[in-house]
Amino acid sequence: MNSFVFPGNIESDILAISSLPIPYMRTSSFSSLVQDCERMLLHLIGCPNGRLIFYTASGTGAMDAVVTNYVSLKRKAFVVAGGSFGYRWKSLCNYYYVNADLYEVPFAKDIDYSDLEANISLSRPDVFLCQHHETSTGQMFNLKEISRICKKYHVSLVVDAISSFLADPLHMDDLGIDICITSSQKGLNIAPGLSFVILSQNVSSMRFASSSYYFGFKENLRNLQRGQTPYSPATTIFLQLHERLKRNVQIGIDGIISQVRERASYFRTLCEKYRWVVPSEVPSNCITGFFVNCNGDILFKELMDKEIYIMPGGTPNYFRVSHLGVQDKGDLLHLAEEISRIEQL
Ligand SMILES: *Cc1c(COP(=O)(O)O)cnc(C)c1O
Repeated sequence: MNSFVFPGNIESDILAISSLPIPYMRTSSFSSLVQDCERMLLHLIGCPNGRLIFYTASGTGAMDAVVTNYVSLKRKAFVVAGGSFGYRWKSLCNYYYVNADLYEVPFAKDIDYSDLEANISLSRPDVFLCQHHETSTGQMFNLKEISRICKKYHVSLVVDAISSFLADPLHMDDLGIDICITSSQKGLNIAPGLSFVILSQNVSSMRFASSSYYFGFKENLRNLQRGQTPYSPATTIFLQLHERLKRNVQIGIDGIISQVRERASYFRTLCEKYRWVVPSEVPSNCITGFFVNCNGDILFKELMDKEIYIMPGGTPNYFRVSHLGVQDKGDLLHLAEEISRIEQL
């Protein structure tokens, strides 16, 4: 198993679903499949009484939808940027002329939460936008602290949980999160192409802005009442999603997360052994980001020649290895030995 990128290695029977005849979506059986998926996803993310909108789009599509339908109604947003995904929130706000204060966090560092609180008390935003896990660096932020600050200053909390969902504990209702987003190709470990906006019970019945046609919450929610999407959904991925969610509900959220956590911890012991520095202060289980001790361009090419895929990190000699999907200790050991061998070349 040689994929350490998203979505990772996938079980062959789930992959095989994509070769089945494509179902027609305007049927009651497809509607009930969609409703089942909504119920299982809401359960897994800890928001059983919320609503979930399905988009045939990658994760950024869901971020875009949240900004046009919800954030644009607010006077001021506050964006945490600890890497490229945080800056994506900011550039979406800029694109749609939403006033947003930017709070930058240095590469792979945790937020200084008392400094954050001081900034919130000055900025007085209406809505807070952040990542749970900034996937470009591997740093995870503390949602309990963020949630405490948001409650104290009456700020609506919106979290991009695209890469932390099913990798790190996350319970929307307990944290008082108003909107969460996630997508198919990360913790769910199926093909890219579906993304999800989860609306807490609090916000699900509010009036949203109507500045987006395809992504409009209102029209999507209206169709969802009968288990439908307004436009043709990626039906094949829905079939994979349904099968994946049934298995996930069976294993349970704690079981899923502990598997991912175990792989992450094991790989980090290998990083220590080979002296590869893991810079993030509080790493997510989703990936391990680390610096190698050789020319990263050469390493990347040598691994590709062996059909081993890891993710470059945007910083020289920095790489990220995903722990999502089908993966065992043997796979990680083999990867580490290969990297070490290339370092000696
Ligand atoms: C993967 C990811 C996204 C979405 O990227 P797409 O390529 O649009 O799917 C957004 N935020 C985070 C934190 C991610 O890891």
